[in-house]
Amino acid sequence: MTSTVITQIPAPAHWIDGRPVPGDSGDIEVIDPATGRSFAAVPAGTAADVDAAVGAARKAFRGWAATDLAERVAVVRRIADELDHRSQEIAATITAELGSPIAESRIAQAGMPVALARAFADIAEDFPWEQRVGNSLVVREPLGVVGAITPWNFPLNQVMSKVAPGLLAGNTMVVKPSEITPLTARILAEAAATAGLPDGVLNIVHGVGAAVGAAITSHPDVDMVAFTGSTAVGKHVAASAADTVKRVSLELGGKSASVILEDADLPTAVAQSLASAWFNNGQVCAAWTRLLVPAARQSEVLDLLVTAAQHYHVGDPTDEATRLGPLVSEAQRRRVEAYVERGIADGATLVMGGPHRPEGLKTGAYIRPTIFADVDPDSVIAQDEIFGPVLSVIPYADEEQAVEIANNSVYGLHGAVFGRQDRALAVARRLRTGQVDVNGGQYNLLAPFGGYKQSGNGGREFGRFSLEENLETKAIQL
Ligand code: NAD
Repeated sequence: MTSTVITQIPAPAHWIDGRPVPGDSGDIEVIDPATGRSFAAVPAGTAADVDAAVGAARKAFRGWAATDLAERVAVVRRIADELDHRSQEIAATITAELGSPIAESRIAQAGMPVALARAFADIAEDFPWEQRVGNSLVVREPLGVVGAITPWNFPLNQVMSKVAPGLLAGNTMVVKPSEITPLTARILAEAAATAGLPDGVLNIVHGVGAAVGAAITSHPDVDMVAFTGSTAVGKHVAASAADTVKRVSLELGGKSASVILEDADLPTAVAQSLASAWFNNGQVCAAWTRLLVPAARQSEVLDLLVTAAQHYHVGDPTDEATRLGPLVSEAQRRRVEAYVERGIADGATLVMGGPHRPEGLKTGAYIRPTIFADVDPDSVIAQDEIFGPVLSVIPYADEEQAVEIANNSVYGLHGAVFGRQDRALAVARRLRTGQVDVNGGQYNLLAPFGGYKQSGNGGREFGRFSLEENLETKAIQL
């Protein structure tokens, strides 16, 4: 059964100072990756559009920063309620622009931003805005104008991860959503207006990174850049922001390992690891794309993986039964396919999948979900972030080697350990990574999220950690 929600797509426009503003430098088409057809467009913004948005945000800052916390909390809760009312439209829009299976879109793409906004509102109410330290009063104050630059894989959630803590902190914002999945930013702007957010507090400028992103990162009147995206672009962002000494928060790529220990519950460990690797069509920064298994158990694990993989029906993302839709674009499909070819050329054992389209799907950005075994931990497919449904199974000899392989990465974003609880926890402590799930530990919106090594620059998102990143600190001696 396919989803029947029809989305109303507005004319291409930025959102500046509380209203839609058309661009004057052409449009960027939004392509449905399941069909290859253009179905919407956003303006190709320029540095002048960024100037206008930063000007509006600067003008609104004084008033918004001076509001009571209770007012900011109430507005953010009303934004969450508005988005909740429009959740079917949000899920359908993201499925159309990104290809996420509709059943997943409802929960992860539409539901998560609402949960996140509500969690941040609760956190702000309990946050220690002022503390006495000896004879000093330490106060936390709004930072200023925040430029948020986000990726395409969780369009609204990534924007909300930055907007909710930014607004609650008392900051004003200029958001540049990914030009590949830009459409729900407008829904957020409309929700914010309906919720009573003053004009100019939240501005959206559409466009490509080299124009709009670069104008934000170098703008002298932007106080902070909150960036989520690839490590390669994150390096440019940090360099560009250095000249004006902005605060920079970088949430970057990953190549996370799931470590299955000897005494793990294998069927559970395998099912959860595959679910992580293939969630959102394998396009998740925190995905466990390397599965580390005791060498003697590899064939048992492969049998379980292939059985579990049968449940991942590939096809039309608007079909309720679909577990894997197309990748975000034809360019991404070709990129992932090249990695699959590289894995084969480098001598990994192809267990299932492979290059080329799945049976019966001649058009659209579809790829065969792929599992490799006997993967060399130093090989390209074990080191690069592929961002598609490609799982590398890596055998290890003993626990020491498992830890060494898991940490053998320039990234350190996420990970998992399965095994006897105390032993798994001991291994989790040794992983050089910002988050680790032990035996399927639940996702926690209050816990800090962010990366070691080249997965980030030390900051953390979610919970009180996001609020801290959005605030200045002043010590008043009494
Ligand atoms: P990307 O780095 O290509 O783009 C991210 C954003 O940066 C986009 O809005 C893009 O337009 C903009 N951009 C591009 N060039 C720019 C420049 N020179 N200056 C300023 N902005 C510029 O990433 P993507 O392909 O959209 O997303 C996938 C990547 O995001 C993956 O590497 C993934 O791991 C990462 N990601 C990380 C997290 C996390 O929380 N750590 C979450 C989701 C995605």
